[in-house]
Amino acid sequence: MNDKDKKEKSPVQILKEKLIMEPKSAAQIMGGQGLEEAQKFCEPYKAFLNAAKTERESVSYALGLLKKQGYEEFDPGKSYSAGAKIYVNNRDRALIFASVGTRPLSAGARIIASHVDAPRIDLKPRPLYEEAQLALLKTHYYGGIRKYQWVALPLALHGVISKKDGELLEVSIGENTDDPVFCLTDLLPHLSEEQNKRPLNLGIKAEELNALAGSLQLEGDDAVSERVKLNVMKILNEKYGLVEADFLSADLALVPALPARDVGLDRSMIGAYGHDDRVCAYTSLMASLEAENPKTTWINILADKEETGSQGSTGLQSRMLEHFIHSLAKSQGCDGVTALQNSECLSADVTVAFDPTFPDVSEKRNSAYLNYGVCVTKYTGSRGKSSTNEATAEFMGKVRRLLDGNSVLWQTGELGRVDLGGGGTVAMYISKLGADVVDIGVPVLSMHAPFEIVGKADVYNAYLAFKAFLIH
Ligand code: MN
Ligand code: MN
Repeated sequence: MNDKDKKEKSPVQILKEKLIMEPKSAAQIMGGQGLEEAQKFCEPYKAFLNAAKTERESVSYALGLLKKQGYEEFDPGKSYSAGAKIYVNNRDRALIFASVGTRPLSAGARIIASHVDAPRIDLKPRPLYEEAQLALLKTHYYGGIRKYQWVALPLALHGVISKKDGELLEVSIGENTDDPVFCLTDLLPHLSEEQNKRPLNLGIKAEELNALAGSLQLEGDDAVSERVKLNVMKILNEKYGLVEADFLSADLALVPALPARDVGLDRSMIGAYGHDDRVCAYTSLMASLEAENPKTTWINILADKEETGSQGSTGLQSRMLEHFIHSLAKSQGCDGVTALQNSECLSADVTVAFDPTFPDVSEKRNSAYLNYGVCVTKYTGSRGKSSTNEATAEFMGKVRRLLDGNSVLWQTGELGRVDLGGGGTVAMYISKLGADVVDIGVPVLSMHAPFEIVGKADVYNAYLAFKAFLIH
């Protein structure tokens, strides 16, 4: 603002600007250069989205970068002093990494927790079957998907198979343009009159999510049954040494075989599979890599199983974080409980962006908007704040001052209209440990769809927010 502008403003206008909060967009606040920086930041983010479509691939990607930067596997028997960079790899599906600060851990840690699993279509333990001369794969969806969105799309198969001989086979079929893909079929409009009468949530039923895997019969002996299935198994055997029973000891998932793309003529958005929550995983990872030698120890967690409720040994309802903090505290000769109670955590997960096509699901004054910055959410949950961690006024105040003090573009929003639905994050599990926790993340359109949308300025400001938090 220059002097001329100031003179033109009426006292009432000046008073309004002083007293009233007006959300500001990225275009208003960041300017051309800031937006360009956001564009630049998002190019490697898109490459990450294409390279890491599962929790395992995300953990492996992060580990690659961390090891390059000198991070070492945590050894509870060792003692770690300021400047140490350590990680705990939990079954290749979740990762905890930390940078030890100059203050003792009993002063608390700065924790950022995101998740690297995303909704997808898992294969059943006995997936392969033949019907009507087609080979198909039975599936069991993972996380909250709207099933009708996942049909008639190219899908890639990712995961691992523990073979009879003990070898762990890594699978990724469908990502290269000359790879074959898989597909869940849907009806043609000409014959969908009965299906059209189903409610939307049953438009495609779970047991109708069957993926096409082949259509050619193995030649040679017409008397042998199910020769399309046999032919598919023969291909899998020749290429990977697999037999059908190997599916029993496998984690296999179908994910959209679509690369991340810029969305909009102004290229201000990114469409991709799995922004939720790899957008927070990536931005917090990038922030971490630039936050070495902190005063206060920071800990970054890329968790698994958030989309199914955080249960299991790799989810945040397990004690992996608690155990790590206790072990690290012990190695420094300080009390783990005190360390936990003095810790602060950003539960880094996406939130809903206001969608003008579906305005009724949100309350517009308490909604996050695309490219209005990273969103701080005081509480999630549903039906009168059930199943949530609500951040205290004091902690919200601290985060607010931190973000403002570091020129982070941020906004606030609830997860939709009250009493409509709702949802939760890992915040409530971490708050059980005694730490202060608040939700923060990038607003998303079409969340949990095969092609989710985020705003580039929000991605960039998430990174700025995490960096400010780690080094404050
Ligand atoms: Mn999430
Ligand atoms: Mn989710």
